[in-house]
This record gives sequence, C-alpha cells and structure tokens, in this order.
Amino acid sequence: MDKEKQNLMISFEKAYETVIASSFRTGSETISFTESLGRILAQDISSDMDMPPFNKSTVDGFACRRADLDAELSIIETIAAGKNPVKTVHHGECSKIMTGAPLPAGADCVVMVEETELLPSGKIRFTGTYSKANISFRGEDIKNGDVVLKPGKCVTPQDIALMASAGCTTVKVSKLPVIGVMSSGDELVEPHESPGLSQIRNSNSYQLLAQAQRAGCSGRYYGIAGDDEQATYEMVRHGVKECDILLLTGGVSMGDFDFVPSVLERAGIRLLFSRVNVQPGKPTTFGVHPDCLVFGLPGNPVSSFIQFEMLVRPLIYYMMGNEWKPFTCELPMHVSYSRRSSDRLGFVPVLITEQREVLPVEYHGSAHISSMSVAQGIIAIPPGRYMIEKGEIVSVRQI
Ligand code: AMP
Ligand code: MG
Repeated sequence: MDKEKQNLMISFEKAYETVIASSFRTGSETISFTESLGRILAQDISSDMDMPPFNKSTVDGFACRRADLDAELSIIETIAAGKNPVKTVHHGECSKIMTGAPLPAGADCVVMVEETELLPSGKIRFTGTYSKANISFRGEDIKNGDVVLKPGKCVTPQDIALMASAGCTTVKVSKLPVIGVMSSGDELVEPHESPGLSQIRNSNSYQLLAQAQRAGCSGRYYGIAGDDEQATYEMVRHGVKECDILLLTGGVSMGDFDFVPSVLERAGIRLLFSRVNVQPGKPTTFGVHPDCLVFGLPGNPVSSFIQFEMLVRPLIYYMMGNEWKPFTCELPMHVSYSRRSSDRLGFVPVLITEQREVLPVEYHGSAHISSMSVAQGIIAIPPGRYMIEKGEIVSVRQI
C-alpha cells in the first residue's frame, strides 16, 4: 500500500460495513445440547410434544368442581406428581393433588391446600372466598411441532431448558471462528519475564485472547514477532492458513518500525483500510486473505481493546449467523466531558455511578490500561462535538 493510500482515512461506519461485507460464514457442527451454552444455533429447534403434555395442577391442593366450592368434599384419592389419576371426581368429591400431577377427570379447579380445612369427618372444606383454577392446560406453553428456537439465536441457560423439554439432545450450531493473536514490538516481553530497561510486558495479546474467549471463542496465540519484518511475515503466513480471523497488535502507526501493513500485503493480504476516523484507534488496519480476515490493531492497549469491541466482536458473531447487538442503556452524564479535538468519532470508556449516572473513567491517553479495569461501558461522541454536558442523556454500550 503506497503512502497516499495508507493515509486515506475512512469513517467508523464505513470501516464497520467493510468488515461485515468481507466476512464469511463459519459452517456448522453438531454437538450435545449440554455443551451449547453461548453457541449460535444453526437449526430450528421444535418440540416433539405439547407442553405441558397434560392438564396439570400448578399447586398442592384438592382437585374438585368449581360448583362444589361451598360444599364439604370427601377425598377419593391422592395423586402424586408422575402418577395417573384413576378416579373421576363427582359432585361432593375431590382428589388430593400435588403440584405437577395430572388433573383427574371431572375436576375443573384445584383449591390450594392453604385455603382448605380438614374436618373431623375426614372431609375438606374450602375456606377462601375465590379460587383460581390453578391448572396449566395441555399445550398452553408449546404445541407439538412448534418451533421454539430459531437459527442465529445465542443459546442461553433458558434455551437449554427448552431443548431439554423438547427432547433435543444434540444440536447443530455454527462453528466457532478460529482467532489467532500475535504481537509486534521489540520492546515486548511475555508476562512471566522481567522486562529489561525500555521493555514492557505484552498485555495486548492476553487481553485480546480474553476478549475472544468472552465472545465464546478460544484464541490461538502465536507469540511476539518483535519489530522484525521477516519474523512477522512468517508468523502471518502461518496465521492466515490456520485462522478465520487474525489479530495483530502494534506496528501499524507511522513510526520507522511500523511495517505491519506492508508485511500484510507481502503475505497476500488485500488491505481494505488502514486509517479509521476514530479516537482512540486511528491506525486500525483491515485486510482480507482467502479464508482469513486480518486486523492490524494499534499497539496501545486501550485502542486495541476498544477496536476489538467495536469491530471484531460484532464480526465474530456475524460469522456465526448472529446479529449481535451490544447491550446499551440510556443514562444521564454525572459530569460534563470535553475533549481537545473534535474531528474524530470519540469512544470514551465510562463507569456507572451508584446514582445511575455516567462517569468517564480517568484516562491519560491510549496506553492507560488501569483506566479500563474499572470501565463498564463505552460512550460515543460524534465527530464535530467537543463536549457532552452534565445531565445530558448518553447511550452506554456495555463492554
Ligand atoms: P505501536 O502501535 O507499535 O506504535 O505501539 C504503540 C504503543 O503500544 C507503544 O507504546 C507500545 O509499546 C505499546 N504496545 C505495543 N504492543 C503492545 C502489547 N502487545 N502490549 C502492551 N503494549 C503494547
Ligand atoms: Mg511498535
């Protein structure tokens, strides 16, 4: 990519569109439903029976006829959950019934045990003024054949309950994209090492691997390439063969040793953008290789974190067929916030105070990792705006 093209800056919206438009689907695999939490469904799940499968009592009590609520009732049988009633309830009769047990023939309501009195005669009497039916009717939740879950759904514990009820013990889900992570920078050493003078520990790779993990994927770590063109090239060549998404950090700015974009091109990656009009994260670079999408993320840990959240996380879900929407909430600003320059779309890490107000976290530039530890969300300031006033309602995107 020549210098002029490299300086070409695109809007965040255009960058997002470009990333999504370049994506491909990961295919599917069949797994046990017990392993499917957080995975994206690739099939309809339909029920093979009515739910509930029979009219059942929703309380512990006595099944009887509503017309008999004023009468003394003799108990003709006891129906436990899991047992079939054998007797029909006639006028002046009731069956003692447990929650979840099938309603006996003849009964049209169940009075709660708490609203009855056992008489010396052994009969019972309703002591309340009005009783609900306390019956859950066959098929009222789900009908046999109903589709209960659709492809693209991210499986929750509640969905696993639905699959269990529907007898769906294996399930087709989208394959997880394989995400490769590598860092560049001669100043980097691994976390278990003691940095020498002018060195720092590699935090980005582990942050990115954890971000991938939070999106349900296990990342593949390639290591630190240093600021060595050939080593970076070799690592990238490996990465694009093995991964669906490859994340590099560092080496994408304008420094003398920032040659990641040219290495990517040499490795056969077609760069689609290399500057985005955002703050932080301007040098974010993106390109495509057959079967692999490659991001060159800025080395600064805050920038790398935010650009993953904004561009990579939605992509991961999209590749699995899920139109992921970040959770957002609208809350007032706790303080006024201003910035020095307004030309870019600003992403500001924030926390939510006990009064449910939005407080930008103290943030001394894009290398300030500890600021991110307390951040709960990100707010966006559009290009052209310098300031958000105290009390103004902003949309907080959860991170
Ligand atoms: P670069 O994008 O290579 O110019 O790096 C920008 C800044 O981020 C520099 O201060 C780097 O030392 C720092 N940095 C780069 N890579 C990492 C990393 N993997 N972990 C922590 N900091 C990094
Ligand atoms: Mg560097």
